Amino acid sequence: FTQNADDTETICNVGTIGHVDHGKTTLTAAITKVLSSENDDSKYVSYGEIDKAPEEKARGITINIAHVGYRTKARRYAHTDCPGHSDFVKNMISGASQMDGAILVVAATDGTMPQTREHLLLAKQVGIKEIVVFVNKADIADMEMLELVEIETRELLTDIGFDGINSPVVYGSALRALQGDMSDFGVPSVRKLLDVVDSYITTPTRDYKSPFILPIDNAFTVPGRGTVVVGTLKQGTLKKNANANLLGFDEEIPTTIGDIQIFKQSVLEAKAGENVGVLIRGIKISRVQTGMLLCAANSLSVSNHYAAQIYLLTKREGGRKKPMQASGYIQPLYSSTWHITCRVDLKLPDGTELLMPGEHAEARLTLMRKMPFLEGQAFTIRENKCTVITGIVTKQLG
Ligand code: GDP
Ligand code: MG
Repeated sequence: FTQNADDTETICNVGTIGHVDHGKTTLTAAITKVLSSENDDSKYVSYGEIDKAPEEKARGITINIAHVGYRTKARRYAHTDCPGHSDFVKNMISGASQMDGAILVVAATDGTMPQTREHLLLAKQVGIKEIVVFVNKADIADMEMLELVEIETRELLTDIGFDGINSPVVYGSALRALQGDMSDFGVPSVRKLLDVVDSYITTPTRDYKSPFILPIDNAFTVPGRGTVVVGTLKQGTLKKNANANLLGFDEEIPTTIGDIQIFKQSVLEAKAGENVGVLIRGIKISRVQTGMLLCAANSLSVSNHYAAQIYLLTKREGGRKKPMQASGYIQPLYSSTWHITCRVDLKLPDGTELLMPGEHAEARLTLMRKMPFLEGQAFTIRENKCTVITGIVTKQLG
């Protein structure tokens, strides 16, 4: 298979997740090795190269993260492997590399472990829908162990809200595959894994069907015509004369869509991904603020309360030296083009009252003003202009 990758081809973003030492990096190396023998667009990346992952700075925090690219018969992949558990947590919470689906590695010798659960929980919260399971270390486990681990993993998946019944599970040995072993648990197991990843994990396409969302970057007045807002359509199809709501800063203002312009040309509709200028009828410019959002009527609402996952930066990352109290923390929250004072209350395990720098937690955010805040939307919280928290919205509350 030698066809050159063309630039318009969609890339599927995947990553290896799972408990430390279960074989994520070995599997990543094995995948590149197997594919490098099949096509010229995949290069073998050794275990050592992946494991000494370069440091990346995403939204103020330091993450060690390896990005590996390869191609199967179906499509191209960008694959993320994080060396440490905390790198994984930071990657997920900062949205540094958004995965379309994940390969969960579970060592048959251990079964599911605390980090297996934690990674799955985070994956679920940031919106990953499809998980493929590789039950690893089959070379040193017997069939009964493999089957038990499969059952246990399916239960865990279901428990967390994934499709534990239909998620594909493959048994194999990443190490054997990396060594070029051609017996069942060697290379063929990785080949089989790649086939199920190809077929089970779907790449998201631009969403033209859902109600439209237009985050507002800018607004101005056209004399004699009215208020025009400018932004890039995040989802859906915007049509002239559609009913809409302008949301943000405690407001939910009904309006209708007037003229729509793309590159200064009037059009009847615009689709997700397009940068548009939109005339909104009957709304004075003084009511529009950057950070507001225009959406299809009654499709979204504003709220003061959101659930989130947050990560407290360490001193080395420019964050706090002091731990954070479970409740009553109040500082400005920044997201896209707006910022608002926010109170953060943490959901900590029983008996814990503090979150230490370098740790993450589930949080309840209370914004001083009602805002639209989308699931998966990232934010930071700053003290004296220094980022101390990075987070991601998981749910709108009340
Ligand atoms: P990670 O922390 O999940 O990235 O795990 P690694 O890929 O670093 O693997 C941890 C250890 O398990 C290493 O010593 C690997 O050689 C070993 N290992 C990985 N896969 C297998 C396997 O299929 N069989 C055996 N026996 N050992 C494996
Ligand atoms: Mg590793």
